[in-house]
Amino acid sequence: MLILWDIDGTLLRGKGLGKVVTERAIAEIFGVQADLTHHYFGGKTDWGSLLEILVPLGVEPERVAESLGIYMVAKARHMTEVIDQYNVRPLPGAMEALTAMRQRPNVAHGIVTGNVQATVPVKLRAAGYDPDWFPIAAYGHESVSRNDLPPLALQRAAALTGRTFAPSEVWVIGDTVSDIECARASGLRVAVVTTGFDSRENLQAAQPDYLVDDLRDLLTVL
Ligand SMILES: [Mg+2]
Repeated sequence: MLILWDIDGTLLRGKGLGKVVTERAIAEIFGVQADLTHHYFGGKTDWGSLLEILVPLGVEPERVAESLGIYMVAKARHMTEVIDQYNVRPLPGAMEALTAMRQRPNVAHGIVTGNVQATVPVKLRAAGYDPDWFPIAAYGHESVSRNDLPPLALQRAAALTGRTFAPSEVWVIGDTVSDIECARASGLRVAVVTTGFDSRENLQAAQPDYLVDDLRDLLTVL
């Protein structure tokens, strides 16, 4: 089995951190002041969010694409500077569920996240997760669409482990309708938790395999 974990709203939360750090990195790299008070980040890739924010402010999509490398370095630096001011912590049950899953034989763990790569270890460590627990990953600077990320993770899982995972052996665990959609786009199984961005009603309507209020509830079914 391969489990592909989402980060924000699933493994951890850091209320307000994303908006502040994104505003600062955008100002530094693109020279514009973005007000993200009403921007909805849930389930989106950082690349997708940047296009939504910056194109209306007159930044060309090509410039966004070309700047992703320097943007993520800047964002990780801003995040490192301020993260102690935010209460970044595991969501209830998340650390316990992950710890129990990691003790099982024949289960590989990866990350599928909308976050750009450079910020992922900063966030994980702040919440007490070791980034080395997730040797497989696909990130939010690698595509505008989250649906493109699970295939990247599956390729990397095969390269790392030397075996191919059948879609029925792969679980995406997330907190948004986008997590459900990205799993289904690759024929994967999907479980979602109500600790994050999307409402229980919206998650239910998107028909995940499992919908739980606490990730520990997955330990009896996965
Ligand atoms: Mg999420």
